Amino acid sequence: TRQFTRPLNDLANQWNTLLSAIAGAERVFEVMDEETEARDEGAAKSLASVEGAVRFNGVSFSYDGGADTLRDITFEAKPGEMIALVGPTGAGKTTLIGLLSRFYDPAQGSITLDGRDITSIRRESLRSQMAFVLQESFLFKGSIRDNIRYGRLDASNEEVERAARLANAHSFIMRIPGGYDRMLSADGSGISQGQKQLLAIARAILADPSMLVLDEATSSIDTVTEIKIQQGLQALMKGRTSFVIAHRLNTIRAADRILVLQAGRLMQQGSHEELLGQGGLYSELVQGRKQEEAGRV
Ligand code: ADP
Repeated sequence: TRQFTRPLNDLANQWNTLLSAIAGAERVFEVMDEETEARDEGAAKSLASVEGAVRFNGVSFSYDGGADTLRDITFEAKPGEMIALVGPTGAGKTTLIGLLSRFYDPAQGSITLDGRDITSIRRESLRSQMAFVLQESFLFKGSIRDNIRYGRLDASNEEVERAARLANAHSFIMRIPGGYDRMLSADGSGISQGQKQLLAIARAILADPSMLVLDEATSSIDTVTEIKIQQGLQALMKGRTSFVIAHRLNTIRAADRILVLQAGRLMQQGSHEELLGQGGLYSELVQGRKQEEAGRV
């Protein structure tokens, strides 16, 4: 999984850099702007309120102008739906997220949010509607409180704590020395990977975006923390359109729609039952997962 979590982390880190720039340092934002590929048109608009309806219409994309990395991708996500992206490493899952968050723009076709072509939406406005919760979440040197507050810099201490409670992070924070004032290093040493995820969930709840990108953890997390994470994620995903790079069968099964990607093509889409009924690649992937999960126990 490393091969694909890294690019997704790169995207999220760039996104975080942009976010902090939006939060004040306009100049930094302009510098970052030069470096990313997709550009705002002069007439690009900011978003007011967002429902979270996403549509890909015949989207194709190539990194280098050569062979398509994604070809003719068409699907719809209704507001609040959970979309699972599945498929082997290199299938194009991360690239699809990169297009949705406008790190790149399609070579052909279009992506709309609430019916508006996202190339007509200012990227900072689009990204303020998105949060990422990844396997390796982004932390910085600072207190737990400030790490959560990063989701929305003007949030009060009460709002930070409320988000932490919803995320199921409050109880572990209260148990560790220092509580919300506990200082973290950038690599978050001293807290577990699962606890880092809980902080990332709290941060995303505070940010209150209409769209989420989740990369499900593959490494083993203790059962108690795992249950807390699942509950925190449910609170987070409620009412938000979520794109989940899913590894576990239970998660995939719970999705409203599953997109099965292979070599840049959308091979199948539908619910778990619909796809199982079709046979083909999805059934094979499910069989593989079952064996893998049985082997892990
Ligand atoms: P997945 O997330 O499903 O593992 P990716 O979207 O990361 O797949 O990759 C899809 C294809 O695009 C792969 O062949 C990968 O090597 C290629 N690719 C990914 N990122 C880049 C990049 N920045 N430049 C060129 N090729 C890339």
